Amino acid sequence: IERTLSIIKPDATKRNLTGKIVAKFEEAGLRVVASKRVQLTAAQAGEFYAEHKERPFFGELVAFMISEPVVLQVLEGEGAIAKNREVMGATDPAQAAEGTIRKEFALSKGENSAHGSDSEAAAAREIAFFFSGLELV
Ligand code: ATP
Ligand code: MG
Repeated sequence: IERTLSIIKPDATKRNLTGKIVAKFEEAGLRVVASKRVQLTAAQAGEFYAEHKERPFFGELVAFMISEPVVLQVLEGEGAIAKNREVMGATDPAQAAEGTIRKEFALSKGENSAHGSDSEAAAAREIAFFFSGLELV
């Protein structure tokens, strides 16, 4: 059974939307198997998003991700990686499908309420980046 890393981003934690977002994942058949609320450092956010280091929005992305606490979760289910991204919707809320998290809650392409791993390799890296073996049962 597949697992993926989900982040409820600062724009959503700030607006007290954590429960509504988790409900969307649960309704889609995903199970929260690990969860913690943390304040990321710039070093952590920069390393997590290292693949975007050369993109023009990188500085803005890191500043946003450390602007408020985030909720880190591991979601489990059949096809969890794809299902999580389907429930989130497109990166840009203007492009996101009806009923998706980003359509309902995201403020902009940057402040888009949620992150989800985009491949099996990314999920493995991102889960290990934030959770220790002891936290994963
Ligand atoms: P995520 O990786 O957060 O799940 P994604 O895979 O849909 O989102 P990516 O292309 O990986 O999108 O971009 C990572 C994050 O960088 C986006 O979720 C968004 O917060 C931010 N971002 C992407 N493009 C832009 C942009 N043009 N302007 C501002 N921020 C952006
Ligand atoms: Mg991505």
